[in-house]
Amino acid sequence: MVSYRQMGEKSFEERELILELFPGTSPELWPPGEILYYRDQEARVHIEESPLHLILEPLEPTGSTTPIVCAACHRHISRAAAQFFRFGVGQDARHFRYVALCRDTESCSGIAPPARLREILLRGILP
Ligand SMILES: [Zn+2]
Repeated sequence: MVSYRQMGEKSFEERELILELFPGTSPELWPPGEILYYRDQEARVHIEESPLHLILEPLEPTGSTTPIVCAACHRHISRAAAQFFRFGVGQDARHFRYVALCRDTESCSGIAPPARLREILLRGILP
């Protein structure tokens, strides 16, 4: 799990306050919240920064062996260690974006900077 603990609880309170007082503010401008990045029982990956929640669907691997860069931790990883995911953008269920991430979400979450996870999250939330 990745968190902003090192920034203290104060910034979380600020985020809650902004959301409460200015609910129309674009998520890009919200103060940072605690980012959760994990895989569930069905192999889907979740990125959450309350109240935003992105679910990434795993895709079947291709035959290619070209190494790729993980979008979350930016490590160069082999195809076998990587997995492609897709996620719906905004309200339009037919518009997908694709991302490659480490298959080992736990190891990745220990390295991935929260700011980068937020970028992926916002790509799925903002049109
Ligand atoms: Zn990674």
